[in-house]
Amino acid sequence: MRREALSDWPGWPARWEMWTGAKARWIAYALGCELLAVGATAVALGTGFGEPVRPVWFAVLVGLGVAQAEMSRRIERLRRWMSGQTHINVTSVWYLAGVVLLPPAWVALLALVLYAHLWVRVWRQVRTRPAHRFVASTAWAMLSCFAASSVLAVLGLHGTPLQTPRGLFALCLAAVVFELVNIGLVAAGIYLYTSQRSAADLIGTWEDNAFELATLCLGGLAALALVEQPVLVVFVVAPLLLLHRYLLLKQQLQVAAVTDEKTGLLNTAGWHDSAVREHARAQRRGDGFAVLMIDLDHFKKINDTYGHLTGDDVLAAVAVAISGSVRQGDTVGRFGGEEFVVLLPGIGHADVLAIAERVRLAVGELNVVISTGSGTVRVSGLSVSIGVARHPGTGMPLDDVLRSADAALYRAKEAGRNRVAV
Ligand code: GH3
Ligand code: MG
Ligand code: MG
Repeated sequence: MRREALSDWPGWPARWEMWTGAKARWIAYALGCELLAVGATAVALGTGFGEPVRPVWFAVLVGLGVAQAEMSRRIERLRRWMSGQTHINVTSVWYLAGVVLLPPAWVALLALVLYAHLWVRVWRQVRTRPAHRFVASTAWAMLSCFAASSVLAVLGLHGTPLQTPRGLFALCLAAVVFELVNIGLVAAGIYLYTSQRSAADLIGTWEDNAFELATLCLGGLAALALVEQPVLVVFVVAPLLLLHRYLLLKQQLQVAAVTDEKTGLLNTAGWHDSAVREHARAQRRGDGFAVLMIDLDHFKKINDTYGHLTGDDVLAAVAVAISGSVRQGDTVGRFGGEEFVVLLPGIGHADVLAIAERVRLAVGELNVVISTGSGTVRVSGLSVSIGVARHPGTGMPLDDVLRSADAALYRAKEAGRNRVAV
């Protein structure tokens, strides 16, 4: 009875998403890193490797890390909602301070505690990534901390007074080792998980890394402050919160630059960027790909009858209908006006036609209810004309396929609208 109840629980190992949702090589790598992180920490704790721990430093760093994470919880949630492949972790400030102030196993424990806090206060609410990826990130942070701190311990630099040249050298070395080990572990993880090969995907952009460096600089200052004059650490927290906010702002700007605000779809520039990437990928694999060019029929009448604002709401509803009719990985954009475009990579001729037909029917079935200042308006009986172009193999530039789709759309309009033309 009890066993049955336990195995129904989503956290039960047999039900972990990792087994079905990830490649075997990723599972092996993630589990290997996790075992190594836990094993190394346990052995170092057991043997007392490094300086003896001063529990007060550990408590102070946990307290500072938790306080900072609590102060910027909203920012971190939004960032995790929007986040791309590499995620810059602002808490690394406290790890570097830990590397200077604590023996290796205890720095790894500091990372574990701060990640556990992040899990409870941020990750559980957004869940934009599967749990196993979060757990692997925790192991990578623990290993990076452990490596940086071990290098200092082995070279006898651990606990060197920080204001001496030797101490400063130790601090810089710790930062460099931390950063290199972290970049390597994360890049290998991303590669094994996604098979992406571009440097920007694996190790982040120059700007990402410059930010990471700025975080580590603050970490160095935090360590110095804690050793020399602990209250000075408050001067590190304000710039840290500001940097964190800047990271969110940068992400928001990047998203706004490629998003059409009326429909939430990609705008022309955003669609083009994504399409160029998908097109290149399809070319590499020798896959065919297709483009749908979709234009609302007699949309001017909607505007003339109900006004432009209602017209905008109709456009948003049509965008939802289109996105809901195509496949998950297809790229949908709004090409200005009442024209939409979809890129469908790796698709056969019959399937493109089926999807185009599905889009046409979905828009036809729309019954948009809009509340205006003077009551509710119902708009139905919409239709679209769709031009389809598909390229079966490699060698055709994206622009040529777009031109073909546009020509097909023109023919669909000529032939009487509310139809698909190839
Ligand atoms: P058809 O495509 O079937 O030939 O007729 P149509 O009336 O849809 O085509 P046309 O291209 O002549 O007109 C498009 C209209 O779409 C013109 C404009 O009033 C409307 N429109 C373009 N952009 C927007 C927008 O952002 N919001 C709203 N509400 N209307 C828009
Ligand atoms: Mg139109
Ligand atoms: Mg048009």
